[in-house]
Amino acid sequence: ASTWAKVPQGPPDAILGITEAFKADSFDKKINLGECYNTPRPAPLAEYDHVRVGAYRDDKGKPYVLPSVRSAEEKVVKNRLNKEYAGITGIPEFTKAAAVLAYGKDSSALDRLVITQSISGTGALRIGAAFLERFYPGAKKIYIPNPSWANHGAVFKDAGLEVDKYRYYDKKTIGLDFEGMVADIKAAPKGSIFLFHACAHNPTGVDPTEAQWKEVSAAVKDAGHYAFFDMAYQGFASGSTDKDAFAVRYFVEQGHNICLAQSFAKNMGLYGERVGAFSIVAADAEEKKRIDSQIKILVRPLYSNPPIHGARIAAEILNDPALNKQWLAEVKEMADRIITMRALLKENLEKLGSKHDWSHITSQIGMFAYTGLDAAQMDTLAKEHSVYATKDGRISVAGITSDNVGRLAEAIFKVKG
Ligand code: PLP
Repeated sequence: ASTWAKVPQGPPDAILGITEAFKADSFDKKINLGECYNTPRPAPLAEYDHVRVGAYRDDKGKPYVLPSVRSAEEKVVKNRLNKEYAGITGIPEFTKAAAVLAYGKDSSALDRLVITQSISGTGALRIGAAFLERFYPGAKKIYIPNPSWANHGAVFKDAGLEVDKYRYYDKKTIGLDFEGMVADIKAAPKGSIFLFHACAHNPTGVDPTEAQWKEVSAAVKDAGHYAFFDMAYQGFASGSTDKDAFAVRYFVEQGHNICLAQSFAKNMGLYGERVGAFSIVAADAEEKKRIDSQIKILVRPLYSNPPIHGARIAAEILNDPALNKQWLAEVKEMADRIITMRALLKENLEKLGSKHDWSHITSQIGMFAYTGLDAAQMDTLAKEHSVYATKDGRISVAGITSDNVGRLAEAIFKVKG
């Protein structure tokens, strides 16, 4: 028998099924809000569709490369730099600037911060998980919100952590189950690890308010828990990189020595370049040195050192004042387009005479929206209206355009009323 005769067939990616159904639909006004492709793509690219789940699209439904990224890339190419290896923790001009972006330029964390470049946000989460698995003094178990980004569970489990869930989303209100969340934080054994989405919670689009974050911080502190932040959408949620970093900065101010996974996939549109960072706030300079040595020992056998091109682009954008200003405006533009599409969808539903309360569409934030439609309704949406999205009722707002928002509202109205 073949060596691999006993390798079982794995289940397909949930998003892939939507792609298949979408592709097979011959209606020319079909809409894909599962993974944001509204236009047929050439065969060699279509193969990768399933991994491009949460990508921003412009108002024509097309992938978008930020003009600031184009300029930064041209600068990088013009500099004709060599292709030598970066250090194990990456390019310092990039990681230093990434730390300032996340924690703020006056943060007390900067002097005692251990930071390493990572293979985007996923790689940052994985390094963090591996570090916790190796050194966390308490239970090697992480609590993630219910629901959470589908890959969180897999990343943490594969790194050897146990995964549990805390209450987060309330189906009835299509909002935050704040009381459940705080109760679960309080009920967990002292010294537990909690993962928080810093902003633009994926998949629900439901974030705690600043006042609620303050209560969460207090509950985490009282219980002696450890906070792990995943910030994959800084700037993308509100349009302001400072506002979106509120939770991270507030926790640090309150004395939490957090760890943080950062991604530049969405806010710089650098998806395939895989630019990210993982950082740990150490207690002091001496602790920082010890942690840093162990991060290097951990990363070296994983991939030796990270790729340089994307990080050079991000470093240009973060360190060149003119490019930085341009980028911040472009991030805001992307966030604003999404906010506008949310408002238009709600407005259209109301104009059609829908009696449901659609305020969650505009109160939610970021790339995704939970419509509150159930699996059967999502099925009807696909079968009768050629609108494709995941069965949990999540739609990618990035896939909505001025052109298709009217038809989308009609379809939802017909299905839900
Ligand atoms: N964390 C969350 C919550 C996400 O939604 C994503 C991407 O969709 C990521 C992390 C990581 O993405 P990437 O590895 O592309 O940076």
